[in-house]
Amino acid sequence: MAQRMISYADYLQLLPKTELHCHFVSTMSAALFVELAAKHGVDLPSSDPATLFDFDDLVDFLVAFRYAHDVIRDPDDFERVAYDGVRSAVADGNLRYREYYVNPQYFAERGLSYTQVIDPIITGLERAERDFGVGFRIVVAINRRESGDAAVELVRQILAHPRRAVVGLGQDDLTPENTEDPTRFADAYRLAAAHGLLLTAHVGETDAASPAAVREAIEVLGCHRLDHGYRIVDDPEVVALARGRGIRFTVTPVSTTICSGWTLDPAHRIRRMIDAGLAVAVSTDDAMFFRTDLGREYREGLLAMGVDAETAKRIALDGIDAAFCDDEQKRMLRADFTAQFLALDALLER
Ligand SMILES: [Zn+2]
Repeated sequence: MAQRMISYADYLQLLPKTELHCHFVSTMSAALFVELAAKHGVDLPSSDPATLFDFDDLVDFLVAFRYAHDVIRDPDDFERVAYDGVRSAVADGNLRYREYYVNPQYFAERGLSYTQVIDPIITGLERAERDFGVGFRIVVAINRRESGDAAVELVRQILAHPRRAVVGLGQDDLTPENTEDPTRFADAYRLAAAHGLLLTAHVGETDAASPAAVREAIEVLGCHRLDHGYRIVDDPEVVALARGRGIRFTVTPVSTTICSGWTLDPAHRIRRMIDAGLAVAVSTDDAMFFRTDLGREYREGLLAMGVDAETAKRIALDGIDAAFCDDEQKRMLRADFTAQFLALDALLER
């Protein structure tokens, strides 16, 4: 009997995927967000996700991002968010491995210590790994609203409480001036690098940012990969620098559209990054807030930018190469992805 063929959109949805750039609270479902808010008596502006997640720009979104941290309080809350987020991403986009940006500084404002945040997340993700076979690592995120000294203190917390799953340092939010300003956190990155943590940073994200921030994240912070980085295409010298250093980028097509105002088409900056020979890995960034998921980022995002099947597979593999896990885990992921590619290629309508 002939096998049923699949459309290119379905092919993109079914491709095996890693996700390297998602903020932990944003992997929560809207339903769980509303449920946890009710549990802890947190007033939300609305219980309707369409109203709750209606943003004008990045700054407007970040207000909602901050208060989402307020609904996750007990170990059980952290574990549920962690576990449910993996289950839904497997169903929505064939997730096989994920890295989470966790910001302990937001939770510290609500009286939780570093380990009270990190440990129940690890417990939930380990349970999900056993049930769904999805490996994970954690990248601790500096809250850019805090000072450079506070970021150094955060790195000291990471070093004082070593956990096998915690492998990197990154960032979220914006500075109080609503800028990226990577060099503000240079001391924290230097300390992290000296102790073997892997480094990433959010830079060049919107028209308010600059390609110079991308250069600073590479040359001053010593980042191993970068998040967003879209403004890089406005400076060919920085493109050459990133390519020369083997810097890979996590990009978030559908999510970025909502805050940048950029249209997803073949002239999009992400497509221009691909055409310039930069390695990109696709992620959701803030799935709940932008009402997206990993499958949609591929199915709608890559399709709208005119990315072909060979390039889509390379992007999926770039998501393994850019990961902060060990080489053995990468080897197993590549074998898994290659086998799934073969099966999917045979089903794709040409
Ligand atoms: Zn992000």
